[in-house]
Amino acid sequence: MVRLPGVGKVHTLEDMSWLTDRIADGQARVIGSTVREHAGRWWVSFQLEIDRTDINSQRAVSDDMPACGIDVGVKTFATIVDDDGTVLQIDAPKPLKAALRKVRKAGKAVSRKRPGSSNRAKAVKKLAKVHLAVTNRRADFLHKTTTMLARSKRAIAVETLNVAGLVKNRRLARAISDLGFGEFFRQIEYKAAWYGSNVWAADRWFPSSRLCGGCGAINQELTLADRSWTCRCGLGHHRDVNAARNLLNAMSLEHHAA
Ligand SMILES: [Zn+2]
Repeated sequence: MVRLPGVGKVHTLEDMSWLTDRIADGQARVIGSTVREHAGRWWVSFQLEIDRTDINSQRAVSDDMPACGIDVGVKTFATIVDDDGTVLQIDAPKPLKAALRKVRKAGKAVSRKRPGSSNRAKAVKKLAKVHLAVTNRRADFLHKTTTMLARSKRAIAVETLNVAGLVKNRRLARAISDLGFGEFFRQIEYKAAWYGSNVWAADRWFPSSRLCGGCGAINQELTLADRSWTCRCGLGHHRDVNAARNLLNAMSLEHHAA
């Protein structure tokens, strides 16, 4: 339940105890709220000021946690290679992919309806609803993944998305914004700062995928479709694992040189 100015007490569908407990403890303070209608529901959001000192120190990363390199992609959302050799591949959740398909379908349905018609209004409502489902699923997935990374790695090497280069490939640019890679890196950055992990970003021209992690040769012929390749030195590479390991190695080299 929340009390809104000019409206009075309103029941909420979501459990508010996380917030009210912290307000009672003095760890959180509401500094503002906004009410809006979206997809046929009313949403109230709060702007909070939260004291994270306790949370962050309890969950700080320790020195014996691994350093890692992260490669992101459309096929596999993230490939994470640790300095102890562990490889973890994270796929975007199936419900998110299904919801993204629904958004595209609903968008097409809107454009087929006559402007101003009631069918169009219905289609617009439907689109808003599926769009909201995508936003929620993506936010949930990104938060879980980035919190896990920021709390379990002492150092994280990431690539810098070459946005200008990606605009040329519209399908890829769309997939990247659909999956939220920009937001993924933004969250890693600020959560790493919370938990005392270090983030290192490669130069945006760093050829993480094309570089042979064995001999240092660069494969100019590599295309986006190549999931694996063999270097002239004879070493076989899994595309994403090689890229993540190259980022990890580049970070280590720079840290040792410093
Ligand atoms: Zn090689």
